[in-house]
Amino acid sequence: MVKDPWQRILLLTFLILVINGLYMYMFPPATRDPVIQIAYSRFKDEVRLDNVAAVTIQGEVLTGRFTEPLATFYEDATADKSGEPRAYQQFRTNLPPIDDQELIPLLETHQVVVNVEPPEDRSALTTLIANLLPWIIIFGIWWYIYQRTSKQGGLGGGLLNRYSKSGASLFLREASSKTFQDVAGLEEAKQELQEVIAYLREPQKFTKLGGRLPRGILLVGPPGTGKTLMAQAVAGEADVPFFSISASQFVEMFVGVGASRVRDLFTKAKQNAPSIIFIDELDAVGRARGTGLGGGHDEREQTLNQMLSELDGFEPHDEVIVMAATNRPDVLDTALLRPGRFDRQVVIDRPDWRDRAKILAVHTRDVPLADDVDLETIAKGTPGMVGADLQGLVNEAALIAAREDAEQVSMYHLDQAKDRQLMGMERKLYLSEQEKRITAIHESGHALVASCLPNTDPIHKVTIIPRGQALGMTQQLPEDDRYHYQRSGLLAQLAVTLGGRAAEKLFFGEYSTGAQNDLKQVMALAEKMVCQWGMSEKLGPLSFNRGEEHPFLGLKLATEKTFSEKTAWIIDQEIEKLVHTAQECAELVLTENREVLKALAEILFEEETLDKERLKEFFQARTLQLPDKARAALYVSD
Ligand code: ATP
Repeated sequence: MVKDPWQRILLLTFLILVINGLYMYMFPPATRDPVIQIAYSRFKDEVRLDNVAAVTIQGEVLTGRFTEPLATFYEDATADKSGEPRAYQQFRTNLPPIDDQELIPLLETHQVVVNVEPPEDRSALTTLIANLLPWIIIFGIWWYIYQRTSKQGGLGGGLLNRYSKSGASLFLREASSKTFQDVAGLEEAKQELQEVIAYLREPQKFTKLGGRLPRGILLVGPPGTGKTLMAQAVAGEADVPFFSISASQFVEMFVGVGASRVRDLFTKAKQNAPSIIFIDELDAVGRARGTGLGGGHDEREQTLNQMLSELDGFEPHDEVIVMAATNRPDVLDTALLRPGRFDRQVVIDRPDWRDRAKILAVHTRDVPLADDVDLETIAKGTPGMVGADLQGLVNEAALIAAREDAEQVSMYHLDQAKDRQLMGMERKLYLSEQEKRITAIHESGHALVASCLPNTDPIHKVTIIPRGQALGMTQQLPEDDRYHYQRSGLLAQLAVTLGGRAAEKLFFGEYSTGAQNDLKQVMALAEKMVCQWGMSEKLGPLSFNRGEEHPFLGLKLATEKTFSEKTAWIIDQEIEKLVHTAQECAELVLTENREVLKALAEILFEEETLDKERLKEFFQARTLQLPDKARAALYVSD
């Protein structure tokens, strides 16, 4: 049996061609426009009867056309064996070997058009070749395709080979000389991977004593934190070939291709052992089977099964380490995580500010920096950013500097790039004066509440220049990376977010549509406070699977509800209570400091953007009042 799907397709195509050829051979198209072979004497009779319109003489053969179809029954040469007369307009006859002197005068007398052509010079060999040529061509093409697809592990490339080969690119040390020097921070992960490097450098040292090293290592972490870079660096440090492929490349449109690519990838790696296989986005094929999460994709499951069997199929002497990266370890098929497969996980986490400074240092190695550049300040002002973001930031700053024809990248350029990354590109949008005024009041509301309430993150920038999707923006940044938030701080954050809307109400007596995004944020945060962080006294220290997010991607997870309708109702009540408390708190602060709010909005309207320094200057010249009731609201739970 032919198992490879490509071989099956080719065999089928070949059979179709053969059947088609046989059909054409047995029923040639000529039978559709019949020619009758007649006797020479009969031909001359028909000429005499004026039944012949034209003839062509070619060597010893004469072909011709009757003036109209002749429905005469010819005993010697009808195609119909039934004996029924049949009409023919084309005929053919053989000329006698002795020159018939009578023929041409006879044709002329009866006004037959005579056409003479040189005799066909066809040797037996050319006839044979002409007949066989189509078959030779068909067979040749088939053989070529068959050879190319069936030759696993042969020379790469080719028309159909593209689909069955893994496409894994081989990065030898010369081509990709990444080392741990290129990976900033991530000290713990590097430590864990040292063992793998030691093994790849001297596999015999480990195998000699019968030790078994983890075959599969899963690098887990949010996107852009340097998982691919880390795997490349491990290969570089160990000085071994590195085969990398993204799991989504396995799954093509043809069933069976993914599995054959996996097979090919592992074969290549084994041939070049010791080596590293790196599979990026493992979750693209590694999702749990049968959950419907991958849409029950047959091809994906086949690929996954093949991967599992390849992982199991390693011999102890195969010095190949398989590394894979994912940011969704929660959706992976448990079979992948079993001992002997990806049984070791290395977490590649978001960098803290110290690591961010190191990453910035790595990426500014080749960038001419001005003296005023302080990478630590930038690192501290970019909480939450990962390696890829920081690389993008440096690149963006270099582009801004180049656009300004600057010789060096200065702090100003890096700040501009940071704002672009954090707040989006500035948009050229014409705002009417009234719209600008509403936006200024709205943003000032956020800024004032944030400056007045305790436990809030400091304001980095306030602007009424449209950026990204927003008409204006108030950007808060924590002074340091924060991992813990207290209830009062979160409640204050809810009040800050609702401050924009509350300021609009205070000045214009009504709300605008500008707070849509604020309300979404408020709802999401309050939901988490109640359901996940147990910050409602009424519900107590309970956790509910509502408002749960993916740990890295921030996506809402669709989970089945595991609490009663009554609890759901109380949850709603508690969320509502939190939001109303925050709103009240914001209103109290803004009413108490109404004049300061007005002044801030006016400056913002004039200057359009106020940075940290300018805000500090503004608030230092004024005294903000924090009403007792507002302060108390942050700390009283029920
Ligand atoms: P994804 O999950 O999206 O595939 P990833 O975690 O594999 O992302 P990489 O592709 O390795 O991330 O990183 C993207 C870029 O970010 C790299 O090219 C690298 O330059 C930079 N980068 C990330 N982390 C670091 C780091 N720790 N040190 C230096 N550069 C880093």
